[in-house]
Amino acid sequence: MSAVTYELIKTDDRTKARRGRVTTPHGVIETPVFMPVGTAATVKAMRPEEVKELGAEIILSNTYHLYLRPGHDIVREAGGLHKFMNWDRPILTDSGGFQVFSLGDLRKITEEGVQFRSHIDGSKHMLSPEKSIEVQTSLGSDIMMAFDECAPYPADRRYVKDSLERTTRWLKRCKAAHTNTEKQSLFGIMQGGMYKDLRKQSAEEIVELDLPGYAIGGLSVGEPKELMCEVLDDCVDHLPANKPRYLMGVGTPDYLFEGVERGVDMFDCVLPTRIARHGMAMTSAGKVNIKNAQYERDFSPLDHECDCYTCRNYSRAYLRHLFKCNEMLSAMLLSNHNLYFLVNLMKNIRKAIEEDRFLEYKKQVYDNYGAF
Ligand SMILES: [Zn+2]
Repeated sequence: MSAVTYELIKTDDRTKARRGRVTTPHGVIETPVFMPVGTAATVKAMRPEEVKELGAEIILSNTYHLYLRPGHDIVREAGGLHKFMNWDRPILTDSGGFQVFSLGDLRKITEEGVQFRSHIDGSKHMLSPEKSIEVQTSLGSDIMMAFDECAPYPADRRYVKDSLERTTRWLKRCKAAHTNTEKQSLFGIMQGGMYKDLRKQSAEEIVELDLPGYAIGGLSVGEPKELMCEVLDDCVDHLPANKPRYLMGVGTPDYLFEGVERGVDMFDCVLPTRIARHGMAMTSAGKVNIKNAQYERDFSPLDHECDCYTCRNYSRAYLRHLFKCNEMLSAMLLSNHNLYFLVNLMKNIRKAIEEDRFLEYKKQVYDNYGAF
């Protein structure tokens, strides 16, 4: 039996939305779920206790960043990532592929892997399927992601086909290199760009390997929302119903709803904490830019319908003041609210699926939120 298992609890009658549960060595994750991102072994501006208190059941961390700093050997010596960062709930690590492919001129792709120069000091490195698994094994994450290539958008068919076939070969190497199967599970990643037949091909190739979960990569990379939804709708049909499905890099409320509606169980995105550091909040009434002059004397909470720590204790006027003065507490309080907002949104989505009112709840949130 694999370290990570999935139980399908209920499927929505009118959509592909589903309520499920992922069990890992560090605890249970109720799905659909949003996973906060802790790039460098920290969810920026948040103590782990706060991340737990706001209800997050799993976080994501980045192999590329931890490989460069502090180095996976140091994390291993510390007793693994859970211990190193004082987080005892599940952790998912990405493979580092997305980051090295994003380096542009600093990287070179071969069948062996990707040669790249560190964005920090220009030093030369090689990330391959075997190396990625070695690093993720040292980190000790519950869920490890396969080393893949995320094709850009737009990309021509030939390129996408070659890239997805190499991704499958790399996945097989990842699977062979993964030996710590009792404590960690490996998820495969479907690619294929916006080409439906290539998506099908990718799905068939990776599903054959019978992994405990599958991700959909290469979406939400700059394509129009309608196209993303159309391709995603098709992608999910090629994945087995008894395994969790993870849509990578998605974290605005509308994309979360569209993903859930099409049968996705797991999501991650840096967005909520990143926009928080720029003074932006997601609220039940839509986006709030705390910098705006209209909040100077607004002593009401950030979100009237939110009961997060920030909304229970502070006013918009105070949050605006902190931001204007470059105070650290600004990022801390806004990050807390934004993460709570998405974690709570997913909790409400799960409840709505259980009570057969997913589409009604979606409409309610869309009506109140305005432009996404
Ligand atoms: Zn709040």
